Amino acid sequence: MTDLLLLPGDGIGPEVIAEVKKVAAKLCPDLTLDEKPFGGCSFDAHGTPLTDDALAAAKAAKAVLMGAVGGPQWAGAPRDKRPEAGLLALRAGMGVFANLRPALCFQPLADASTLKREVVEGLDIMIVRELTGGIYFGSPRFIEEIPGGKRAVDTQVYTTGEIERVSRIAFELARGRRNKVTSCEKSNVMDSGLLWREVVTELHKRDYADVQLEHMLADNAAMQLVKNPRQFDVILTDNLFGDILSDEASQLTGGLGLLPSAALGVAGTPGLYEPIHGSAPDIAGKGVANPLAAILSFEMALRWSLGRAELADRLFAAVVAALDGGARTPDIGGRLTTAQMGDAVVAQL
Ligand code: ATP
Ligand code: MG
Repeated sequence: MTDLLLLPGDGIGPEVIAEVKKVAAKLCPDLTLDEKPFGGCSFDAHGTPLTDDALAAAKAAKAVLMGAVGGPQWAGAPRDKRPEAGLLALRAGMGVFANLRPALCFQPLADASTLKREVVEGLDIMIVRELTGGIYFGSPRFIEEIPGGKRAVDTQVYTTGEIERVSRIAFELARGRRNKVTSCEKSNVMDSGLLWREVVTELHKRDYADVQLEHMLADNAAMQLVKNPRQFDVILTDNLFGDILSDEASQLTGGLGLLPSAALGVAGTPGLYEPIHGSAPDIAGKGVANPLAAILSFEMALRWSLGRAELADRLFAAVVAALDGGARTPDIGGRLTTAQMGDAVVAQL
């Protein structure tokens, strides 16, 4: 059985995944790796962004690590053949319903003078976003002609089971952190928000009374993230609000090139790990992409799917030590190439 399936993808994806391979060879040479084409490169080679073969390999592995997909050259492809459609199909096929997005400010980058912008020193938030339900998937959804214009409809749907399973992951995570969950919805104006609050409250009372639970309206959460971001530990929220709040929170840290993510399904099934950045066509092929987001996505895979938490701890410490030693790619104010940044991490292992 393959431990880790690599889907390097497009743009800077293969460049940053190459650094993960270097790190894995040093840290855990016994880990079995496999690799499949995915995204635009798969469309070019096989006429589809996600082949049956790649999906089967993803479901059979213990964890899947993706680089990035997409790019301007595939923007004209039919909607269901675009690289992004492949990513949605992969998430759906793997049944990963909980998206973990850490917003973490690395201490060596807390000094704003190197980044030329402000970050929030000491920030350490974990956002848990529901990933396979809500308004992105609800039906009916359509646009229709009406007298004098058009009418567009989207539908938000959540079931008790969908809310409960993602909430459970948030509570479990909080126990290993600062023991606090802030659940965000709009229960003042949405019935799905009301059900969300009810289910989270029930589950908390039943199984997680030791964890501190706070309910916060999503608009207030957006405000509080800017006003006093250090108050948060774990933020639990739905698909749409999670999309917005996690992008907002990422901007309080050292930037896109450093932030990983995980998507988890039911226990025992493979997780899907990927940097939060995209394929970055503007810098692809130049060897300057920051590989740390991909390397830290591998760190999450070691921790959450591969059962190797102690290796994950070592890798995390190596990344911090490399940053401490001054290793910087251009996006964080330095001059190292992608490969040199990977080498700096390997040197710390
Ligand atoms: P997508 O639609 O694929 O998510 P996007 O338009 O959101 O793409 P990204 O591809 O993430 O954008 O790129 C946004 C900006 O951040 C670009 O200028 C890109 O060069 C930069 N960027 C993204 N990832 C990295 C990285 N790993 N290292 C350095 N710069 C990066
Ligand atoms: Mg993007």
